[in-house]
Amino acid sequence: MKATVETDLCKGCGACEIICPEVFRMNGGRNDFAVVHSETVPEEADNFCVDARNCCKPKAIRIC
Ligand code: SF4
Repeated sequence: MKATVETDLCKGCGACEIICPEVFRMNGGRNDFAVVHSETVPEEADNFCVDARNCCKPKAIRIC
């Protein structure tokens, strides 16, 4: 499973990092948005990654 964040859609809420820190991290910049630091999702984090995608209100997270 692979994950990406469409940064133009991300609202910077931070939910994905809280739910699945194995994959998502806030960039920490002035205009904070989420970045993927592990494009290939570790198997043990699969369910958390799906939860993060489902909780992302602007639908900025893609997984395949
Ligand atoms: S949950 Fe969605 S909107 Fe919130 S920081 Fe993550 S990618 Fe951005």
